[in-house]
Amino acid sequence: MKRAGGAVTFDPARSAQMALIRGKNTKPELVVRRALHAAGLRYRLHDGRLPGKPDIVFRSRRVAVEVRGCFWHRHPDPDCKLARMPKSRLDFWATKLEGNAARDRRQEAELLAMGWRLIVLWECEINDPARIIAVIGEVKASPVNRPGSAGQERRPVKPIAAKPLL
Ligand SMILES: [Zn+2]
Repeated sequence: MKRAGGAVTFDPARSAQMALIRGKNTKPELVVRRALHAAGLRYRLHDGRLPGKPDIVFRSRRVAVEVRGCFWHRHPDPDCKLARMPKSRLDFWATKLEGNAARDRRQEAELLAMGWRLIVLWECEINDPARIIAVIGEVKASPVNRPGSAGQERRPVKPIAAKPLL
């Protein structure tokens, strides 16, 4: 073990990596977050004040982005290979997954009722740059309508670390 002045050396890069591994953030979500961040958009994560704690939240624009796994959330696209049902224990899976999808629909309805907009990105769409660019465009096109928080989100972020930890 490395020691500096009697204390165990702290390696921030490694800590960050471990945080990513431990975290609940799935990889597709990180891909989207990096793209949004690179486009100059700033957001909150897993905002507990909103129904279903949406993954990525633009409060001043009242827009939320959810990155959904195709299998667990029943991507309705018939061409989606990731959403195919398992061949065994079909009843079990159908009940479980339909429950997830029903919860997603409730979340979306609640957000809409609060004047929010929900953009859903499916796991199988993550590797399509055109789709990501379209989402960035949708977010940017949403007007900033809450002056209180608008200033906060617009303020340029000082580069503190070499790379922001997303
Ligand atoms: Zn899919």
